[in-house]
Amino acid sequence: MNEALKPLLALQECDKHVDLCQREVDELGKDLERLQARKHLAKKTFEDAQKAFSELEAKRRNFASETKNQEDVLIKQKTRQSSLKKQEEYNASALEIQATQAQLRQLEDQELNVLLELDVQKAQLKAIETETQAHLKELDDTLLVLQERRTQHTLQLKTAKELLENAQKHIPAALLSDYLRIKKLTNGRLPVICQLEGEYCRGCQLKVSREIISLLFLNKERVHCDQCGRILYHCY
Ligand SMILES: [Zn+2]
Repeated sequence: MNEALKPLLALQECDKHVDLCQREVDELGKDLERLQARKHLAKKTFEDAQKAFSELEAKRRNFASETKNQEDVLIKQKTRQSSLKKQEEYNASALEIQATQAQLRQLEDQELNVLLELDVQKAQLKAIETETQAHLKELDDTLLVLQERRTQHTLQLKTAKELLENAQKHIPAALLSDYLRIKKLTNGRLPVICQLEGEYCRGCQLKVSREIISLLFLNKERVHCDQCGRILYHCY
């Protein structure tokens, strides 16, 4: 192996470490986003249950108000009836009173149904609240752990980038430029420098030409895979 390539391999190891640290930071970021989404969902589920309960309470108040109105109407109708002299008017008034009483019974039945439903929803809401609080506490605990872990990994990433920067200083400018050019060509995917195994490039796993193998045996500093362009080395 050409000795000049050893610092480049060391640089690549630093690059791999940066990639690894970056992936860990990114994964933790995604985990944190997922946890925040679960927190949001848990809160929304509880808020929706609260809203449904409030709407039902409003419905009960409306029935109560409507019942009160009809009761007032009934009192007025009965008062008016007592002052009527003619039989026809009295009969007409009695029909009105019957209609109001029927409406009142219907309203009371509806209000009772809402009251029963409110009892059920109140118990459900309490259960959801208890469950949500426990769930949120659990999520917050996990969030704290992951945030701490991300802080540590971010620091590790910072150190890894510093080591990479330092390793770059030990590479001749032309070689470094070649390394960075190939890295760009592979969209950042490592390796940039890889071993020739038999007649195959371990970067692209394709067979290289005999000319490339000959150049490697001549111990040339920079030999590129004629399939993928990566820098090749051999360990003969
Ligand atoms: Zn290749």
